[in-house]
Parts: sequence; C-alpha cells; structure tokens
Amino acid sequence: MTSPKNKKPVASWLDYDFFKEGRRTIKSLTVILRTVGCQWRKCTPCGYWHESADVTQADILAQLEHSLRKRPDEEFILKIFTSGSFLDEREISSETRKEIARVVEKRKEIKKLIVETRPEFVSAEKIEDLKVVDHLEIAIGLETADDFIRSKYINKGFSFEDYKIAAKNVNKSGAAVKTYLLLKPPFISEKKAIEDVIKSAALASPYSSIISLNLCNVQKYTTLEKLWKRKYYRPPWLWSAIEAIKEMMKQDENVVVMSDPVGAGHKRGPHNCGKCDMEITEAIKKFNRTQDLSVLERLAEIDCECKEVWHALLNFDDFLFGSNLL
Ligand SMILES: [Zn+2]
Repeated sequence: MTSPKNKKPVASWLDYDFFKEGRRTIKSLTVILRTVGCQWRKCTPCGYWHESADVTQADILAQLEHSLRKRPDEEFILKIFTSGSFLDEREISSETRKEIARVVEKRKEIKKLIVETRPEFVSAEKIEDLKVVDHLEIAIGLETADDFIRSKYINKGFSFEDYKIAAKNVNKSGAAVKTYLLLKPPFISEKKAIEDVIKSAALASPYSSIISLNLCNVQKYTTLEKLWKRKYYRPPWLWSAIEAIKEMMKQDENVVVMSDPVGAGHKRGPHNCGKCDMEITEAIKKFNRTQDLSVLERLAEIDCECKEVWHALLNFDDFLFGSNLL
C-alpha cells in the first residue's frame, strides 16, 4: 500500500514569470512531483534526492491533479519538476509522460510547459510526446561550460559535449532549451565564480533560449553542507549575482537571463551583509519577472559598506592568483 503522502507533490506554488515568447510577465504554476528521485545522486551541492519516495506512477498522476487544483484561470506557465529528471523513465514512465501530456493538452490556459532533465535522457521521441502546448522548454543543469569544474567540483557526471548533443537534439525536435548555470560551486573563489558563469553563458547561449543563473545555496545532507560547516565554503554574494547578470546581458543582447534568488539573504543562501540583502533580492526578483535591466542598474546607487568588502575580496583574488606573483 502506498502512503497517502505519496499522492501529494513535494510542493506546488503560484508565482509570476517572464514569458519570453510573448515578451511579457504572466502567472506560473510550479509543481515539484515526488518520484523515486534522481538516479545520479552524486552532485556535491544537491540534496533534492532526499525528497524521493517509493511512489507509484498512479501516485504521480494524483500529485499532478492535486497541484492543478490551484491553477490560475487565465494563461499561465506550467513547470513540472521532479527534483530529478522528468525524461528519466525510471522516474516518469513512458505511459505516465503521455498521460501528463494529455492532461496538459486539455488545459488551454497553459501557454508553456517546462520540464527538467539530465542530458542523457533526452530523445526526440520523448519530446514529441510533450509537444502539446505552443511552447515546450527543456531545462538542463549544465552548471558550467568548464568540464574540470563540473566534473571535479560539482561531480555532475556529464561533459559539455554531452550537453551540446542533448541541447541540439531538443532544438531539432522543436522545443527550447533553458540552461541552468551555477554561480559559485565549491572550491572556487568569488571572482573565478563570476568569471566562470559569464564565460559559460557565452558558450551555452548558442544552444539556449534562456540562461537561468542559479545562485548556489547550501542544502542539507550534502557534501557542500559539510564544507560550509567547516568554513570551506561561503555562498555567493548578491553583488556577484548582479555583476554576472549585467555582464551576461551586455555580452549578448539577445539572451534572456533569469535568476530566482532562492534562499537569498539567509546564511545558507546567496547573501551580502544583511542590511542590503532585502533590497537587492527584490530587485533580482523584479528583473527575473520583467527582464528590465534598469532595475539592476539602479542598484549602483546603493552605497552599502559591504560593497567595499566585496570589491576587496575580488581584488584579493588578483593578488593571490595574479600571474606576476606565481
Ligand atoms: Zn550590504
């Protein structure tokens, strides 16, 4: 007998999102389905697999129905995440995927469907099943275009080449790619982290419709948490996020950069000094919904003293790793 808990999603909530294809902000419903979880389970910052359970495919459909009860009655974006890979058939079987597509197809208010997957599970056939809405987006957690950082520091288990093959496959199948980049994986400095995401955005944007900048936060029961507790890791500064977003937009005017500052202002999440965190977080959220860069540019007027500390930290990086000293 399956537990009653398995009939409810891990979480579901309403929000607003930037709808790229319509160049406007619309409502979104995010659903986190509980599945048997990600099969990889080795990434240093990820603790999502703790949300997995021994659920049946019928449970998964019940979870979706439960979440859709709170859907908006106007046009909206539906995000169905699993804390793993939606296209992994061990999590969502082929039959369940097709049934979910039938459910989505009936709801004409759904303008766009977004699912997440590791690249190895992408196939033209699976994408075809999901093409029941005007806009289908497949989100892939590349994290960085640097194979060394991805394999050694994040332990992601796939290469940039694997990502490119999957992304091309998605594009060829008539869906869009959203690429997640991770600001500040463990073992790299604040400055290198900023440089890495900017460079990664340039390398991933030819394959991506949207770049999503994810600001690293410290989740429970992870390798990252162990490092953080020993003071070997500090989550990124919010100033770094602003800098990275502005540079990404500057280097490619066609790119859409989204960033939902999860856990911002908390010690486990991206944060500054505590005094200016709220204002900056609100600005990032507003930018995320609107793509209006002036919202971030106005932050230059904030004269919080922690900005000097952050600047010093970046300069210190030059001092430590500057080529003239090595
Ligand atoms: Zn501050």
